[in-house]
Amino acid sequence: MKTISVLGSTGSIGTQTLEVVRAMKEEIQIYALTANTQLSLLEKQIREFKPKLAVLMDENAAKELRARVRDLPVQVLAGMEGMIAAAVYESVDMVVTAVSGSIGLRPTLAALEVGKNIALANKETLVAAGELVTNLAVQKGCSIIPVDSEHSAIFQCLEANSAKAGAGSRGSGFKIILTASGGPFLGWKKEQLASVTPAMALKHPNWTMGAKITIDSATMMNKGLEVIEAHFLFQVDYDQIEVLIHPQSIVHSMVEFCDGSIIAQLGMPDMRLPIQYALSYPERWNVCFNKLSLAGKTINFEQPDWEAFPALKLAYQCGKRGGTLPAVMNAANEICVHAFLHSRIKYHEIFEITERACRDHKPVKADNLQTVLEADAWAREYAQRIISGKK
Ligand code: MG
Repeated sequence: MKTISVLGSTGSIGTQTLEVVRAMKEEIQIYALTANTQLSLLEKQIREFKPKLAVLMDENAAKELRARVRDLPVQVLAGMEGMIAAAVYESVDMVVTAVSGSIGLRPTLAALEVGKNIALANKETLVAAGELVTNLAVQKGCSIIPVDSEHSAIFQCLEANSAKAGAGSRGSGFKIILTASGGPFLGWKKEQLASVTPAMALKHPNWTMGAKITIDSATMMNKGLEVIEAHFLFQVDYDQIEVLIHPQSIVHSMVEFCDGSIIAQLGMPDMRLPIQYALSYPERWNVCFNKLSLAGKTINFEQPDWEAFPALKLAYQCGKRGGTLPAVMNAANEICVHAFLHSRIKYHEIFEITERACRDHKPVKADNLQTVLEADAWAREYAQRIISGKK
């Protein structure tokens, strides 16, 4: 029996993780659930999954929750300290990091510090502090199993190949082909994209996800973040990572080996599959939520439109230059996506402001948490200032 903590249990990945847990009750139990603000949903989850610890980021919301679950043997904590407590508890085997944004960085590092394995759904953590996180994982002998569907696919392709090169080991002799659906604006030109509204950008054709990642998919920043995520997870150079548009989201990514052979992983666009694989690894569980039927399906691949979706190029550039630059790109983008969702900036300004932050930042080596957090804070403030100045 595995014991897990789920950080971000009321979000899209969090609730789907609990669906997998519900289906695999005899294999897995929950130690802690943490959420940002969704009090009522967290209470419902506590009543069903009976964790020993529950955490809400907001102190007042935690107080209210404490009162509501007085009849249960659950401890309720608040804030970052609570989230870290959920990540480091002794009997926890694996921490599912399903929070959105770089808020996941500190609890992830804390969990690795005490030797926990990570099911990583929080790509921003790797983008902001990839070197720090992967070095610590190697040093402490922890596995980071990707939950991101593309990275789960790559992980499975590498696992399937006997020339083993899983996450954490320096990869050579293969190339990663990261597939991208292209999002809701696939085929749109730069001029057409000028009139995009939040409601339009929130309609993803294939995947049901949280708001932040859905907007990132619409700008293709999500794929850019995933390029950096792949660089750190699989220890490959950026020129070993190629992005291909694949609108059907059936092939979740591929690995091309040195002999020209390509291994791909296919499945329904359903996050419960990569979540389940991360939880069951190295085994596979006999649960299928959504089977893919291939007969009659057509799949195709094409090059991305670099001009209409410049965020992808920016991510490659920031990744290659390295240091604190990916953290800055990620933080500025987070602020801009939030501002766009609240109609404070236009769609194209998400990229423009993020790029400006990257241009004005003087990157330094990102080899300690303090430096990463400072770069992150600098970028947030910088982006906020530009956004406020526009009003
Ligand atoms: Mg993905």
